[in-house]
This record gives sequence, C-alpha cells and structure tokens, in this order.
Amino acid sequence: MKGILIAGLILISLGSLVGCSQAEPERATIFAMDTVMTLTIYGDEASAARQRAAQEIHRLEELFSVTLADSDIARINQSAGESVTVEPETAAILAETVAIWRETGGAFSPALHPVLQAWGFTTGAYQIPDADDLTALLAHTNPADIMLDGTQVTVPAGMELDLGAVVKGYAGDVLAALMVEMGIETAIFSLGGDVYAVGERPGGGPWRVAIRDPFGDGDIGVVGVRDQIVSTSGSYERYFIGPDGVAYHHILDPATGRPAESGLVSVTVIASNGTRGDAISTALFVMGLAEGAIFAAQRADIEVIFVTEAGELHVTEGLKDRFTPGDGRKISWI
Ligand code: ADP
Ligand code: MG
Repeated sequence: MKGILIAGLILISLGSLVGCSQAEPERATIFAMDTVMTLTIYGDEASAARQRAAQEIHRLEELFSVTLADSDIARINQSAGESVTVEPETAAILAETVAIWRETGGAFSPALHPVLQAWGFTTGAYQIPDADDLTALLAHTNPADIMLDGTQVTVPAGMELDLGAVVKGYAGDVLAALMVEMGIETAIFSLGGDVYAVGERPGGGPWRVAIRDPFGDGDIGVVGVRDQIVSTSGSYERYFIGPDGVAYHHILDPATGRPAESGLVSVTVIASNGTRGDAISTALFVMGLAEGAIFAAQRADIEVIFVTEAGELHVTEGLKDRFTPGDGRKISWI
C-alpha cells in the first residue's frame, strides 16, 4: 500500500449535541488522491450529498491523477510535445497553477513530476537522485512553457505535470460548491492535509480545526473557520531516511529539485479559496518564514501559521481572535 498520509489536521470532536436539534450527520471515508478522506455532512439532503461528493472526488482523481494512464494529466505527461485536448476544468486548473507559480516567484510549480519521480515520491521507491540527473530534469520544469489554448494543452517534450499540491484544495472548492447547489449548510471535509469547513458547526459558531504538532502526537492549537480551507504542508507528512541518515521530505524547492530547506516544519494556510490555500501552503513552505511572512502580509485572502524547526509558532495577526494555541505555547504575531 502506498504511503497513506497522516492527516496534518485533526477534527476536534463536536462535543455534546444534547439540546441540539441537528440529526446525526452522514459520514463517508474514501481513499482517493493517495490519502484517506472523511466527509461529514448534515441536513435533510445529506445522504444524497454524500454520494454526489464521493462521485466528485473520484471524478477529479480520474481527471488529475498522475498514475491513472487515461487522466488528463497523465495524457499530457505522455504527449511527447504533441497537443492534448483536456476537459475545460483541467485547462482552468492548469491556468490557475501557472498563475500561482508566477505569484509565488516559482516556489510553487505544477511541472515537477519527473523530479518527484526521481526521488521516488510518486511510487514510494525512495532514492537520492544524482546531482547531474537532477540538473538534467530541471531543464524541463519551466511552467512558462505550458501552452494553453482553450482546451488544448501543449507542453514541451520532457515536461511532466504533477498537481499533487493543489488537487485536494481544489476538491474542497468543488465539494463546497456542490453543497451550496444541494442546499447543504453544514459539512466538513477532511482531505488528507487539508480540511474544508462548510458553514458553521452544528449548533452554531465556527468549525474548530486542530493543527497537528509536527513534533508529536498532539496539536499546536485550534483555529476557527467558516467556509474556509485549513491547508497544511509539512515536512513530516511524507519523507524517507536516506542511507546517509538524512531525512528527505516531499516538498521540493523547484530551484534545486531537492527537498526545501527553509527552516520550517509546517505551514498552515487558511483561505476561502481551497485551490489557492493548498498551493500557497506548499509555496510558503518552500519560501521560508522571512519571505513567506512578507508574502502573507501583502495578501488579504490568506492567513498563515508557520512552525519553524526550532518549534516556534509565527501566526498572522488576522488570526488573533480565531487561533487558540495549545497549552503553554508562545506565539509571535506577524
Ligand atoms: P500534501 O499533499 O502532503 O497535503 P502539499 O499540498 O504540500 O502536501 O503537496 C505536496 C505534494 O506536492 C508533493 O507530494 C508533490 O507531489 C508536490 N510538490 C512538491 N513540491 C512542490 C512544489 N514546490 N510545488 C508544487 N508541488 C510540489
Ligand atoms: Mg499544498
């Protein structure tokens, strides 16, 4: 079995529902996108919504998976420089990821698949690639070379895409829109390292999402969210120990093709747009605290919790009344 990601986030139990008129939710556990997902949906239409949501997740996986040979992304990756016709949705997410690549100064890249493969992160057959091999692979990773013309996508021979850092956030957006369409006001989706909260928790008030402690079993604190994603990128989520005893994790610096060494162990982004939240959490991990804090300060649509290798918490001020740190934890507000 391929490495199941340990969820970076833990849902706080709802506590007692006594005195609350909400019926029991519909729940589903799904293995998709290389992770375990749990869907929890409240309301009259919850059963139908749960089925539609599961279908949507599988549909997105069939569109974006790098391993399913018929997916849009796999067909692009096998195209050897020829143009490929994709679903409008695929063209749209590609345009968005290229835009985020530019916005993040290259820290997020949708074109790292061959480099991820070289490390074995796509299969679990981990290895440390030769420096020369990495250099050769990096020559084909410039997202500016992705040509989009309507639903026609052309990438140069040698380039291969991997949307692993955004698909779960995108899935959060798709599921949230589905809930609106189906009249569901209360739901929460745990999608691996990402949690998307729809509406408020049963009985009212923001959903409370605990953020996992990268150094232990507990959490570093709890954040309150409504109609938002809580997206965590952490070096502890997937890594291997090389023969040299060094831990190599799965978030690569696109500039070097090597695991980002930014001084961070996890980055959590809170955003209304799940796709952006997911992509930007990965990008901020690569950027590190100094650059990442400036990036966050310049944007009203994201709030961020950085955890450094030294165990310090740096949290954007917009979370002052929404983030409750765990016992005895000190926060630097940025
Ligand atoms: P997770 O998938 O564990 O929730 P992320 O959202 O941070 O975490 O995505 C990490 C995945 O994204 C990696 O497993 C890899 O497939 C891909 N990836 C790694 N580095 C980058 C990067 N710099 N930009 C875009 N995608 C990346
Ligand atoms: Mg991400």
